[in-house]
Amino acid sequence: MAERAQDVGTEPRTDFSLLIGGKLVGGSGRLDVINPATGTVFAHAPAAGRAELDEAVAAAREAFTSWRGTSYSQRAELVRAFSQKLRERQSELAELLTREQGKPLSQSVAEIDRGAAQSDGMVTIEIPVEVLIDDAERHIELKYRPLGVVGIITPWNAPVNLALGPLVSALYTGNTVVLKPSPYTPLTTLKLGEIAREVFPAGVVNVLAGGDELGAWITEHPGIDKISFTGSVATGKKVAAAAAGTLKRVTLELGGNDPAIILDDVDPKAIAKKVFFASFVNSGQVCMAIKRIYAHEKIYDGLCSALVDEARNAKVGNGLDPDTQLGPLQNKMQYDKVREIIEETKRSGARILCGGEIPEGPGYFIPPTLVTDIDEQSRLVQEEQFGPIVPILKFSDVEDAIRRANDTRYGLSGSVWTNDLERGKAIAERLEVGTAWVNQHRATSAFVPFGGAKESGLGRQYSIVGLKGYMEPEVISVAK
Ligand code: NAD
Repeated sequence: MAERAQDVGTEPRTDFSLLIGGKLVGGSGRLDVINPATGTVFAHAPAAGRAELDEAVAAAREAFTSWRGTSYSQRAELVRAFSQKLRERQSELAELLTREQGKPLSQSVAEIDRGAAQSDGMVTIEIPVEVLIDDAERHIELKYRPLGVVGIITPWNAPVNLALGPLVSALYTGNTVVLKPSPYTPLTTLKLGEIAREVFPAGVVNVLAGGDELGAWITEHPGIDKISFTGSVATGKKVAAAAAGTLKRVTLELGGNDPAIILDDVDPKAIAKKVFFASFVNSGQVCMAIKRIYAHEKIYDGLCSALVDEARNAKVGNGLDPDTQLGPLQNKMQYDKVREIIEETKRSGARILCGGEIPEGPGYFIPPTLVTDIDEQSRLVQEEQFGPIVPILKFSDVEDAIRRANDTRYGLSGSVWTNDLERGKAIAERLEVGTAWVNQHRATSAFVPFGGAKESGLGRQYSIVGLKGYMEPEVISVAK
């Protein structure tokens, strides 16, 4: 716990700037950034107001006139130079990410690695001109051109990865960007801005930290052509409504309530570790974490005890401690929300198998908590908990499990766990989600589209499907 006290008594860091039109500048406001492992303010970040937003949008519009004329290969080269710089500064960025977000240092390192690798991957994707008709009378082509200025708004759970996906998609397809991180985790993203400044022409990338109101202004701004938003369903609906005013294009990557269906033929001990970490990684603060476990009655008791063993062995603590596997909740609001869900779950008479007690002391720590004998209509089963508490629900008939898994307005992802891959695939195909996995959960790639069905989102990120969301299709039809 020595590190827990590390930020206490030291002056907050202030070496952060907004990036507007190629210049590093201060803001008209200030954000106090809290280390969730200590509960203390450890940094101050500049916050942008309307005037800075107008300047950033003007800079992005101006830069667009020449950036759109560059080739895919020129843009790919700059993206690769950018991701190389991320790798060179990985340890510094990872430590900052752990301090502001809370996740274990090894996972911050992995987040930067993955972001850099996915960036490099995305810029290898070709977006060809498609010839639709070529006959004696006509030659008709479908081409894709950039939209203009993309406003990117990100949440606090994986700020680097969730910024890099949309950022690189927008840049590679010829757009310029105004990027806004969550007010809870602005710091690493502001550092990404500093690195982008060394690589891209002035105005191509602009980074503005700020509160929720800055997000709202971005979605309404007439100089912005598209919004790429990652966050909650409730805010996503506000974004869609605000974007309607100027008919901005939107990609919405929203919340999930992912089911995992565990069939009767698995050995619970063999899958417990994977299922546990797919549920509790980043202390459950992952859009595509397993949030409901449906277990067949035959393996139910075995699975419960194997998962409890994993939970008891998982090391919860400050992310800077090398042994830590699960860090704190990222902010007080989320910590209070999860504590409330735990209290409500206890009051409902459901059985807490492990965890459920909040430790004394600084920081927003909650141990991994597993719950059984819980009503399907309870808040924990129905809502996105986004924290380290997961219900294990019993089924005897797989049809019933599929129905219950789909009985939600969410549709981000889901998984089926079985030794019979054909059967697993057939069940996966019936999940109403953007991604259905068999014997894994939480695997993404630059070459595979990711996004939500139902209220979990609109559009996709990554792959050619995602990239086309940053472009306008244009038909060129020539009469011969
Ligand atoms: P949030 O919706 O509260 O905030 C996300 C961002 O939106 C922040 O930058 C915030 O400042 C901004 N914002 C707030 N109000 C706004 C408004 N009216 N207009 C525009 N922007 C506004 O979400 P959060 O609590 O930061 O993140 C957690 C949520 O994000 C969870 O629901 C999680 O599942 C979801 N998420 C989804 C994905 C995905 O890829 N589908 C990935 C990560 C997180």
